[in-house]
Amino acid sequence: MKSYDLAVIGGGLVGSAIAWGAAKGGARVALLDEGDSALRAARGNFGLVWIQGKGAGMPAYAAWSQLSANLWPALRDALEGETNLHLGLQQPGGFYFCLSEAELETRAALIHRMSNESGDIGTRVVGRAEARAMVPGLGDEVVGATYCPMDGHANPLYLLRGLQAGLRAAGGDYLPNRHVTLITPQPDGFRIACGTALISCQKLVLAAGLGSRELAPMVGLQMPVQPLRGQILVTERMRSFLDYPTHNVRQTQEGTVMLGDSHEDVGFDTGTKISVQQQIAARNMRIFPALRDATLIRSWSALRVMSPDGHPIYEQSAAHPGAFSAACHSGVTLAGAHALAYAPAILAGELPEQLLPFSSQRFHVQAH
Ligand SMILES: Cc1cc2nc3c(=O)[nH]c(=O)nc-3n(C[C@H](O)[C@H](O)[C@H](O)COP(=O)(O)OP(=O)(O)OC[C@H]3O[C@@H](n4cnc5c(N)ncnc54)[C@H](O)[C@@H]3O)c2cc1C
Repeated sequence: MKSYDLAVIGGGLVGSAIAWGAAKGGARVALLDEGDSALRAARGNFGLVWIQGKGAGMPAYAAWSQLSANLWPALRDALEGETNLHLGLQQPGGFYFCLSEAELETRAALIHRMSNESGDIGTRVVGRAEARAMVPGLGDEVVGATYCPMDGHANPLYLLRGLQAGLRAAGGDYLPNRHVTLITPQPDGFRIACGTALISCQKLVLAAGLGSRELAPMVGLQMPVQPLRGQILVTERMRSFLDYPTHNVRQTQEGTVMLGDSHEDVGFDTGTKISVQQQIAARNMRIFPALRDATLIRSWSALRVMSPDGHPIYEQSAAHPGAFSAACHSGVTLAGAHALAYAPAILAGELPEQLLPFSSQRFHVQAH
């Protein structure tokens, strides 16, 4: 039985970022991942490093997201240096375009409220004329937008590959096809069973996405996450026409345009639905008429990992110290914070005060 300082269960973006960060911090790390038959949000996402609107009603989440956006360049520099992959990070700011005055008013109210709650990060309402000056080619129906200078995007698949390659380069073990079925707390750590194989570790992190829900009670944690489906469409490569990411359209560095994404409460159904894709395409062709001539080449769906209030869950087990949880629906955005802030806190054995609001205890309060 091989033993580690830290075992991270779940090789999606959340687990891979934490595992890489911990290995860089000098820990002997194993990253255990179920394999190709698993539900994997990390392989179906949109690639935004998105701050605007994040954390309404929970300033700690707004601050955590901002910290992560600020840490992203350091994450990019480290991973690109270690792996020769190009993560495609761009942080020029991002737009949320509105198609009616009512929609713009609702967005403006959200931004105003968040600025009061969490501080001003420069997010502002942009009128029709300024929006057209900044983003040529907008449709006539666009009445304005909100713009946040901290928003950006990256290639999420290169990010995942980079984190796992970086983990191996730092001496960690990436172990695919390890479906964890049982975790047994021991006096000096934990024993983890993946079928008949066993490993032992002093500390562990549950970052198994939707698989965390079942594993959490084994170490005295609660991770009441649910699936929320999103569908994404991709066009053929187009000439460059969009220098900024928007909340539901972005042009990749290769030239393809990604359109997304839906929010569908359909349980564990990972299928795609033409009617939903038509809605995604129709809205975005009103915003960018050039898309009318584009050919779609791919579409898919993936399941988000959603907590009851939509905010992340981070916690250390009170019953079994050394066991930590990590779940969120913004694994790209939060990769900087997971790798460079959460992983060091886990190695230190104590979560900083700024992370205490993310405990699952908040769901008990809500239930009361
Ligand atoms: C349509 C869509 C669009 C998105 N767009 C964005 C975006 O623009 N920006 C952003 O920041 N985020 C976005 N996300 C969210 C982002 O992809 C997720 O936050 C992130 O992938 C979640 O990562 P995860 O590692 O928690 O979960 P997952 O990626 O689902 O990974 C969980 C891993 O755990 C493994 N696992 C499960 N059970 C077990 C077990 N018992 N034993 C061992 N391993 C197990 C699985 O194999 C899997 O690899 C989007 C998600 C979706 C679905």
